[in-house]
Amino acid sequence: MRELTSGLIAHPLLRWGSTMAHPIDLHHAGVPEAIASYLLDLGGGAFALFDPGPGSTLLQLQAGVGAAGFELAGLTHVFVSHVHLDHAGAAGALARRTGATVACHPRAAPHLADPTRLMASARRVYGARLDELWGPMESVPEGRLKVLEDGETLALGPHEVRAIAAPGHANHQHAYLLDDGRLFPGDACAIRLPGQRAIMPATAPPEIDLEAWDRTLDALETAAPTRLLLPHFGPKDDVADHLARLRAALPAWAQVVREGIGLGEADRPLADRLEAYLRAELATEGVDDDGIARAIRAAGPMMCVIGLRRALGEG
Ligand SMILES: [Zn+2]
Repeated sequence: MRELTSGLIAHPLLRWGSTMAHPIDLHHAGVPEAIASYLLDLGGGAFALFDPGPGSTLLQLQAGVGAAGFELAGLTHVFVSHVHLDHAGAAGALARRTGATVACHPRAAPHLADPTRLMASARRVYGARLDELWGPMESVPEGRLKVLEDGETLALGPHEVRAIAAPGHANHQHAYLLDDGRLFPGDACAIRLPGQRAIMPATAPPEIDLEAWDRTLDALETAAPTRLLLPHFGPKDDVADHLARLRAALPAWAQVVREGIGLGEADRPLADRLEAYLRAELATEGVDDDGIARAIRAAGPMMCVIGLRRALGEG
């Protein structure tokens, strides 16, 4: 975390007047560099959070807020990229404790106002492990939700933030662009671990749409961000290269899965096939065994193939 933060201070593209964005490693399930939230300094002790993370890591989030030199009471805005539990789970709890406004995509709002259906479907996937893994998801109180349409801007302390509709990973996803070029993309810019080049599109079901994702990349390239702040994981400054390689990774991953489907493979061998592809890519760029294991855990090949199979109309 220290490394990430000091990199930010040194970065030449941040124009004078930009305020600090502190990455907070939520150590989800005890794993470092798995899920990050970002604290944006708004001046005078006020701050915003971008993707506050799951309900189960609220204590880690609070510790990170304190470590960055802020009091939770200073939270004025929570930006939710999409309502998956690893991004949005803590939004309601934070809104209730602080009175903060929660900004989101129009289709995310009903789930934040009433997470009952969302949690019921998560329970079907995770069973008894749901509480331990993701914790509770509290509703955002009425009047605290701020729905942003595609292209809409919001004044945020010394900054302005623009919502950019970013479907592909989820159809109700926004990326948030600061006026100084920093982009909080949710999962629209995929997964990429610190020190690695491999781009791992998060293709877990049920809303993967590869064509929509490609159009999202058009919109993000047009917006020309100068820095990506990835929830999974960390700031990336090689933006054009990252986006270009993500654009290539989407059809490449689909092709790996399509080949397996063509051979009649079930999900397990398909996941092994995708994992082997990823291992080879990581090994080619010189990532060691530990780094490869961490990348594969972050990508979750089984969920990825289930989502891709469905996206390819083979689910
Ligand atoms: Zn995610």
